[in-house]
Amino acid sequence: MPFGMAANYNRPKPIDPIWYRRSCILRIRCACGRARSVELGAFARENSISADTQIYKLILRLRCRCGLRPSADVTRSPYG
Ligand SMILES: [Zn+2]
Repeated sequence: MPFGMAANYNRPKPIDPIWYRRSCILRIRCACGRARSVELGAFARENSISADTQIYKLILRLRCRCGLRPSADVTRSPYG
């Protein structure tokens, strides 16, 4: 592996399954102004989403209460 990639080794990837990143933070932000940061594993349980689901599929399923599709990402900490 090239040296330059080492820093990114632990960054959550869209193809990671939820269980593998369950303690990471899902950050959801909608154009209407609603925003939420929640532990990925807790969010999946809350919404009856299988832990085998890949992160990008969960994000595609997100729907804000205003009806829009929010943007989201997963980080290792609420501050990352
Ligand atoms: Zn919204």
